[in-house]
Amino acid sequence: MSSPVGPQQGNHSDDRRNPGGQSPSADPGGLRTLLEVQEHDTALDRLRHRRQTLPERTALDQAGQQMAELAARWAEAEGRLAELSQGQAHVEADIASVGRRIVDIESRLYGGMVSASRELQAMAAEVQSLQRRRTDMEDRALEVMEQTEPVEAELVAIREERASMEVTTVRLEEAVAAAEAVIDAGAVEESSARAALAIQLPGELKLRYEALRKSLGGVGAAQLVNGCCQGCHLRLPAIEVDRIRHLPPGTVATCEQCDRILVY
Ligand SMILES: [Zn+2]
Repeated sequence: MSSPVGPQQGNHSDDRRNPGGQSPSADPGGLRTLLEVQEHDTALDRLRHRRQTLPERTALDQAGQQMAELAARWAEAEGRLAELSQGQAHVEADIASVGRRIVDIESRLYGGMVSASRELQAMAAEVQSLQRRRTDMEDRALEVMEQTEPVEAELVAIREERASMEVTTVRLEEAVAAAEAVIDAGAVEESSARAALAIQLPGELKLRYEALRKSLGGVGAAQLVNGCCQGCHLRLPAIEVDRIRHLPPGTVATCEQCDRILVY
C-alpha cells in the first residue's frame, strides 16, 4: 500500500503550512503539490464539461434542426407549386387550342363556303360542344389558381420564418463563441498554473497519478480528511489511518478502497 518516494528532509510541521511550496524539502514527496495539480485538473475537467454542454450550443443545434426542417418544408412546397404551375400551363394551352378550333369552325360556318344545312348543323353543334369544354377547362384553371394561392402564402411564411431563424442562429453563434472564450481563458489560466506545479512532481508519482486519473474518472489523488478518503468518501479503518499517519513524510500511500493516492 505504500512505498517511499524521494528523499525526505526538512521540517515537516512547516511543510503542512506550505502547500505547493517551491522546494522539495517543503513538500516531501511532492504530495501537497500533487493535490494542487489534482485541483487544477478537476477544474479543467469541469471547464471542458461546461464547454461541451453549453446551453447556448444546445439551442444552436435546435435552431439548426429547425432550419433543416424549414428547408425541407420549403422544398416540398416549392415542388407542389411547380406541379400546380405546370398543370396551369397545360390547361391554358388546352383552352387556347380549343379557342383556335372554335374560331376556325366559326369562320367556316359564317364564311358562306358551306351550304348543306346538315353540315352547318353539325358544325354549330361542335362549336357548342367545344364551348362547353372550354368552360369546363376555364373552371379547372380557376381551381388550380385557387390551389396555388395558399401554397404561395405558405412559401412567404416559410421565408419569413427562415429569416427570423437566421437572426436567431447568428445570435446563438455569438453567444456560444462568447461563452467558449470565457471558458478557454479560464482553461489557459488553469493549464499554466497546473504546468508550473506538475513540473515539480517526481516523475514516478506523476505517471502513477496520471494513470489513476485516467482509470478512476479524473481523480487520481485525494486528501485524507478525518480518516475519510476524499476520493471515494469511504472511511479507512482506524488502524490503517494510524499507519499512514506514521509513515515517513513523503511516502506514497494509497486508499485501500479506491486505490487513489492519499495526501495526508
Ligand atoms: Zn478512496
